[in-house]
Amino acid sequence: MSRITVLGSVNQDYVLTVARHPLPGETLLANGLQLLPGGKGANQAVAAARLGSKVAMIGCVGDDPAGDALLRQLQSAGVDTGFVMRIAGVPSGAAFVTLASDGENSIIVAAGANSYCDVAQVDRAADTIRASQVLVAQLEVPLSAVEHALEVVGGRRGHTIVVVNASPPQVLTASFLARVDVLVVNEHEARVLRGLPADGLASDPAALARGLVDLGAQSVVVTCGADGAVFGRRRPEGAGVAHVPAPRVRPVDTTGAGDAFAAALAVSLAEGRELDHAVRFAVAVGAAKTTAVGAQGPISMEHVQSLLESIADHVPPPGER
Ligand code: ADP
Repeated sequence: MSRITVLGSVNQDYVLTVARHPLPGETLLANGLQLLPGGKGANQAVAAARLGSKVAMIGCVGDDPAGDALLRQLQSAGVDTGFVMRIAGVPSGAAFVTLASDGENSIIVAAGANSYCDVAQVDRAADTIRASQVLVAQLEVPLSAVEHALEVVGGRRGHTIVVVNASPPQVLTASFLARVDVLVVNEHEARVLRGLPADGLASDPAALARGLVDLGAQSVVVTCGADGAVFGRRRPEGAGVAHVPAPRVRPVDTTGAGDAFAAALAVSLAEGRELDHAVRFAVAVGAAKTTAVGAQGPISMEHVQSLLESIADHVPPPGER
């Protein structure tokens, strides 16, 4: 069984359904409140375990009731929580999501215990990281912890594949990017990493992927929602990029699609697949996720299989675009 270590955030999501967003100073009554497990790290760990990998999680929760529930949810998905620390006197990470009836969402995240992830904690998990086929990290925990995990992989490059989902985005140094085997970003994140205005004019995802390879990553995957994903690889003659279209689905909730995508990519790479195969699988899993509610909503493998068949013939070799 392939082994994956996920370093990242664990959050309690408080999802409020409202008719409209409140004005400054205004109090509104919500139509509904749902408490759902979330956090990019936990979402990716749970998805990877459900897709069949042996997953260890490195992260932090508080010693509050939310922390108990979040740990239980990770464990019930089969995730090894031996490296998830309880931080005394600190609340677990929380995301306050307001879903308005016009479809416009706003989210406030309080890092809480997630901000206690540190170098010492990563060191304690060093043997597990090195014994993994894939290390997956996002940027909802302190960058110093992620940097250290990349250093721990260090000389094991080629044995442990490093996947970084640079979300939420921040500008990363060339030395950080040089340690990343596969950088996964959506178009908005890609623009931030390239130093372009996040809300600027739409850029060609292939150009964004090429630009990120030029910044130092070995391979880059830019996810493009209903348009699928573009991936690029470093090659002696310059970055080669290819596009994988998304299958057509009827989305009911796109929350966590990017997390399901990153998890599926990691699972496929951990099984020894090439990047083009892994991206196709991830596109199908991301699309399947949009048909279920919740960041950790269920994904049916039969659905994924039928979606894979529908996109099987559409992948040009890298460099065709
Ligand atoms: P994020 O959730 O990080 O913003 P995207 O919106 O790019 O990321 O979605 C990630 C992946 O999920 C896409 O590459 C695609 O495979 C799938 N996906 C997302 N939205 C849709 C959609 N409307 N139809 C089909 N697939 C989708």
